[in-house]
Amino acid sequence: MIGLTGGIGSGKTTVAKFIEECGFPVYYSDDRAKDIVNDNEDLKLKIKELLGNEAYDENGFYNRKFVAEKVFNNKDLLQSLNGIIHPAVRIDFEDWVKKQKKYLVFKETALLFELKLNLQCYRSVLVTAEDNFRIKRVMDRDGKTYREVQAVMEKQMPEKDKIKLADCVIYNNTNLEDLKEQTEKIIFDIE
Ligand code: ATP
Repeated sequence: MIGLTGGIGSGKTTVAKFIEECGFPVYYSDDRAKDIVNDNEDLKLKIKELLGNEAYDENGFYNRKFVAEKVFNNKDLLQSLNGIIHPAVRIDFEDWVKKQKKYLVFKETALLFELKLNLQCYRSVLVTAEDNFRIKRVMDRDGKTYREVQAVMEKQMPEKDKIKLADCVIYNNTNLEDLKEQTEKIIFDIE
């Protein structure tokens, strides 16, 4: 298993798509977590117990905005929420990985180093880019303001710490062709 990570707007999902184009399967932890909070009834109950019934809307869907606001400046609550969601994602990943036939699989997650998941990986790959590129790309992609993106970045592990921990680093400061080339080179080196 190869861990693939990067902060907000670094380009890790774009790299993950290139990896899939090269024929290797990618597990998208953050996307799966979004599905799991809606599909897993046991998890739903636990989240409601922690955050209140408003954590789900009248149609039973996870109320992302409510939850984000509730945990944004409350470290303990965020930790408790993660303590519910992360084990469920881990079980889901284990089920997924059993079904894969390739000798290399990739796990994309924003929190590879924060959760020490890199210790379970054969190699870790970090995608990084200069702050201004990341902010501009997320503003264009999500319609967020400069300040909103910066606020998320400030809460994430500093890039210099991630660079120290990573086995391989992709610098996404130019264009998509260069990003693809760097991705292919890393796959080639790992293989
Ligand atoms: P998040 O953690 O916020 O989901 P991410 O790390 O998965 O972000 P991507 O979604 O891959 O980042 O990239 C952010 C945006 O920037 C996307 O719209 C993507 O198409 C664009 N992008 C990424 N790399 C480049 C690049 N080198 N040149 C131009 N656009 C890029």
